[in-house]
Amino acid sequence: MHRSVRRVDLLHDLHGLAGEGVSERLDAIVLRQVDVGEADRIVSLLTASRGRIDVRVPGVRKSRKRFGGLDLYVRAEVELALGRGKSRLSSMRILDDHVGIRSDVERLALAGYAAELMLQCVAEDQEAEQPFRLACSAFQSLGGASADAPGGQGWARAFELKLLHVLGNRPILRRCASCDGPLDPDRLAWSLQAGGVLSGDCREDDPVASRIAPSLAGQLDRALRLPLARQGELEWSRRDEVEARHVMAHFVAEHVGPRDRARRFLEQVLQPNSTLGLAALLGVVLLVTAGPLACLPGDDAAGVRVQGYLYDTLEPQDDEEPISGAEVTAWADDGRLLVEGAEHSRYVGFYRVSDLAPETAVHLEFESPSDQWLSTVLSGRTASNDLWVEPGVFHLIPRDSYDSDVQAWVEVLAPDASLKSTWGDVQHPGEGGAVFGQLLNPEDHLGLRLSFVDSDDVARAAVYTDAEGLPSRALGITEHGGFAVFGLAPGPAHVFLTELDGTSSGRSFVTRISEGGVTSLSGFEVL
Ligand SMILES: [Zn+2]
Repeated sequence: MHRSVRRVDLLHDLHGLAGEGVSERLDAIVLRQVDVGEADRIVSLLTASRGRIDVRVPGVRKSRKRFGGLDLYVRAEVELALGRGKSRLSSMRILDDHVGIRSDVERLALAGYAAELMLQCVAEDQEAEQPFRLACSAFQSLGGASADAPGGQGWARAFELKLLHVLGNRPILRRCASCDGPLDPDRLAWSLQAGGVLSGDCREDDPVASRIAPSLAGQLDRALRLPLARQGELEWSRRDEVEARHVMAHFVAEHVGPRDRARRFLEQVLQPNSTLGLAALLGVVLLVTAGPLACLPGDDAAGVRVQGYLYDTLEPQDDEEPISGAEVTAWADDGRLLVEGAEHSRYVGFYRVSDLAPETAVHLEFESPSDQWLSTVLSGRTASNDLWVEPGVFHLIPRDSYDSDVQAWVEVLAPDASLKSTWGDVQHPGEGGAVFGQLLNPEDHLGLRLSFVDSDDVARAAVYTDAEGLPSRALGITEHGGFAVFGLAPGPAHVFLTELDGTSSGRSFVTRISEGGVTSLSGFEVL
C-alpha cells in the first residue's frame, strides 16, 4: 500500500550548506502541530532518514487547498524546501490518512501517547529507521478500517516495549536481570536498576524492587512479541494490567523521558470506572510530583510499604546524593501516630515506611538531620500494595531557599488589606507552621481558592504565585497555581477548595502541620 520514497542522497548531503532552491523528498508521519503567526503551522515530522524534522507549513490555516490534508498522524510524501532556519513544506501527497484514528477517543488517545513518546526519543537530523517503522505500524494498527478494539492499556504497554526494544533498552523479561538464572514464578520482582525482572534470592537482595504477579513477566513478553494490530487478542487480568502500567511507567520515564500530558489523557480515556472518588479528584487537584499510577493490588491487603530516596530538590539530577540520617514518622488523618522512627536501609538515603494500611491517607514527617534543611511533612495516599515513590517526591526543603521564599511572600502579604479583612490577620510567616505546594492543572481551578482550617479552628487562605512563580496579590488561583499559607497551628489541618465568595466546592482533604517545619503538598500521592 505504501510506496517507499527514496531520498535523494546528493541533496541530503547538501543539507546544511543548502541555500534556497534545494529541496528534499521524504516519507513522513505527522507527530505534532503547532499554530504560528496568522496562518502558518509548524508540524513535527518523523522520518526514517532524518529522524524528527520541524517544518513550517505556510498558509495552511487560511486555505486548506494545498496542505489541508496534512493532519495529525497522517503519513505523507513531503517535499521540503531547505533553507537557513526551518525547512518549509513545498508540496505533499497523502499516503495514508489513518482516518480510523479519529473514529474513537481510545484510538485518538493511544495515537497521542505513541506520538508523544516518539517526540521524546527521536532526535532531529539523525537516522531513525527503526522508530519510523514502528510508528508506521502503530498508526496503521490504530487507523485501519478494523472495527475491533485496539487493545487499550495492553496496546500502550506493547508499544512501550517495542519502542524500548528499537531504542536498545528492552526490559529483561525471560531470565533474572541480575544473575541470568531462570525465573521462579512465585518469587518475582521488578527492578528498574537491574533492567527488568528479578527472581529468587536476587529479589530479596534488592530492597527497592517491587514484587510482581507471577504472570506479569510472561504477559509483557507476549505483548512485546505480538504485532500491534493484534494486541486486542491478548487477554489481560486486572492485576497484570495495573502492575504493568506501574512498572512500565518507571521504565519509560527512565529510558524515554516523562510524558505526562498524553499519559494523563490516556488514563482518563481508559479509566475502568468512570465515577472518580474524592481521593482521585484531589489527586487531580493537587500536584503531586509527576509520578506514575502506582496502585498495585496485592494478594495480602495489609502491610503496605512506601519507599524511596530522600533529596532536597523535587527534580534531583542523576548524580545527586540523597540525604541520609533523617527520622521518619507517619501520622494518620486524625492525628494518630502510626509509625515512629521508621527503618533505614543500608542504601544511603533510602527510606521505607512499612505496615501502613492500603489506600489510606498518611502524612510522613521527615525530621531533618541538620539545620541545613527544615523538617518536612508530606501528605499522600498509600497504594494497595508497595508504593515506590519517584525521585524527589521524598524531599526536605533547604533552609536557605525557604528563607528567601518567605522573604518574598512577606513583602506581598504585609500590605495586603484584602487578605486581612476576609480571612483575619495574616501573621508573620515565621510564626506557626507553613505549607507550600503547587496545583496540578491550575487552569482548571481559576477563581477558586484553597483555604486551610488548622487545629485551633483558625481559617487561612492560601496565597498564590503568578506565571513567573512570584508571590501574587491575586485572591483566587492563578494560572501558575503555586501556593503558600503561613501561621497554622501544629496538628491536622483541613484543606478546602472554595469559591471566591466562600462557598465550598465540596472538595477537601486533611494534611498535617508541624511546629517549626514545612508541609509540602508535593507529596507522594500518585493517584
Ligand atoms: Zn537472579
